[in-house]
Amino acid sequence: MIKKHIKCPLCRGSKTTKKGIQDGKQRYFCKDCKKVFRSKDRKKTKFLLKLWISYVFHKQTVRELHHAYELDRRTIKKYLDDYQPPEKEHSPRSVHLVVDATYFGERKKTPAGVF
Ligand SMILES: [Zn+2]
Repeated sequence: MIKKHIKCPLCRGSKTTKKGIQDGKQRYFCKDCKKVFRSKDRKKTKFLLKLWISYVFHKQTVRELHHAYELDRRTIKKYLDDYQPPEKEHSPRSVHLVVDATYFGERKKTPAGVF
């Protein structure tokens, strides 16, 4: 018996249940925050974190992000407005540690000297 619990991308709770398929993607329901999300949302969360970090810590402007990610400027602004960082952390150093260990396995993409 293999029971895989997908973590909720919104509250990180693991009390999730499958809730049908929409557009060919599995949907899940989180019992903790009562939200429905799709399995693909995890990727988006990761992407938003990356975007947010570029914006906040690398001091990239919306215009630079627009070029880097080929997204509409308004979309980027909306993403940044909507995005809630996982933890309110005032020391950038520890945020970097969390990010490096947990989210990105791809340090090579980071330009040398940024950290
Ligand atoms: Zn949740």
